[in-house]
Amino acid sequence: MTTTTSQTHDVVNPATEQVVRTVEMATVEQTDAVVAEAVAAGTAWRAVSPAVRGRLLRRFSDLVGEQQEQLALLEVENAGHTIGNARWEAGNVRDVLAYYAAAPERNFGRQIPVAGGIDVTFREPLGVVGIIVPWNFPMPIAGWGFAPALAAGNTVVLKPAELTPLTAMRLGELALEAGIPEGVFTVLPGRGAEVGERFVTHPDVRKVCFTGSTQVGRRIMRGAAAQVKRVTLELGGKSANIVFADADLELAAASAPSAVFDNAGQDCCARSRILVQREVLDDFMGRLEGAVRDLVVSDPRDEGSQMGPLVSSGQRERVRGFVEGAEDAVDVAFRGSAPDGPGWWYPPTVVVPRSTRDVVWQEEVFGPVVAVMPFDDEADAVAKANDTAYGLSGSIWTRDVGRALRVARGVEAGNLSVNSHSSVRYSTPFGGFKQSGIGRELGPDALDSFTEVKNVFIATD
Ligand code: NAD
Repeated sequence: MTTTTSQTHDVVNPATEQVVRTVEMATVEQTDAVVAEAVAAGTAWRAVSPAVRGRLLRRFSDLVGEQQEQLALLEVENAGHTIGNARWEAGNVRDVLAYYAAAPERNFGRQIPVAGGIDVTFREPLGVVGIIVPWNFPMPIAGWGFAPALAAGNTVVLKPAELTPLTAMRLGELALEAGIPEGVFTVLPGRGAEVGERFVTHPDVRKVCFTGSTQVGRRIMRGAAAQVKRVTLELGGKSANIVFADADLELAAASAPSAVFDNAGQDCCARSRILVQREVLDDFMGRLEGAVRDLVVSDPRDEGSQMGPLVSSGQRERVRGFVEGAEDAVDVAFRGSAPDGPGWWYPPTVVVPRSTRDVVWQEEVFGPVVAVMPFDDEADAVAKANDTAYGLSGSIWTRDVGRALRVARGVEAGNLSVNSHSSVRYSTPFGGFKQSGIGRELGPDALDSFTEVKNVFIATD
């Protein structure tokens, strides 16, 4: 790269408000240079044998595993994640890489019976893939993109979010240490409006894999249309946690706070709407209040911390606006506690909207705020759960397996869990219905999404 950088960004620790590091932001010219390197590296990378490509990814996974604690501590400092969560996140990158390390040798095409010859399909890499990552889970979301993209034989340029580039930059270094050739996987910190937009307009970037807000996702989809560029979009959510009267209420109430307040609510899968069957609403709210008040909101480096600060002062102001500044007169039912500062703290907050049209019921807060409403019966629960533009995740609490399945089939969302809040496993598909996105990450679907199918007919007669 020969061009000089013209911009820098101060990375700030959300728990202390201290500058951690100043990071250079790439220019559009630098983006073009890195994409050219990725194009050049692609020819050799797609020719690497599947077994060797798998071995390199396995080595990368091992290095991430060896560095798990250091990566976790870096994320605590950069994003304010609790140390327990940050360890899981680094471990998730290790596991996702290990899972896709087995993929190059299983990236099968098909042989299809036809008249007059032999027909075979190949799954070929797309070329250069641009991955754009948000600030809420900088490590896992990066890994969900680059691991299958590399396994399928693509080269990757990854742009982390401006606020949280540090762990992604470290992952880029570990890839090189693992022996992945230069230019195959480059982490390029930069601004969305420059580096991110350039991925969309650059003719040699064959796919944009974007995770972030629905608003920016729409813009990327519009821009990508000009070149009929492939996109995967993982966008916002407003997921419902549906609690039926026959559920294990104790477990449902005890687990509801972590399902929404984990990562201070900055989670696309946050169960930020709780729907409770009317006859058990008071009982559930009583139990929920105890669980919320018991939540440990403290220095994210503390082993016992269950919730840290929000990522930035801007994000805290946005969250405040949904509660304190709400035009729809939201009633705060109860709150947990939070430190005074320094740091961008906001207490876990439970609100009761007046109507399903209220902004706090309809829009993604992306902070530690959950709204609770009653429902009457199964049909009402499904209708209320679906009454949103989003469709990412959701939970269903009931002891009736027939009802669990009926409701799971009725709710328009990509990732549902019954008597659990689990949304993400590296071997199963993850993604949204409606305005929560297009395409699937993880599992076998992600590998397919980073390939083109080529059909070849060989005449024999
Ligand atoms: P954001 O959309 O503001 O930014 C996401 C990324 O896009 C950043 O790297 C940013 O620099 C970049 N970007 C911004 N403008 C761009 C442009 N014009 N062109 C190209 N790139 C651009 O989102 P955020 O605030 O960082 O993250 C929060 C959002 O992400 C929430 O809505 C959340 O639900 C969503 N999210 C979704 C998932 C999922 O898998 N569905 C996962 C995590 C987060």
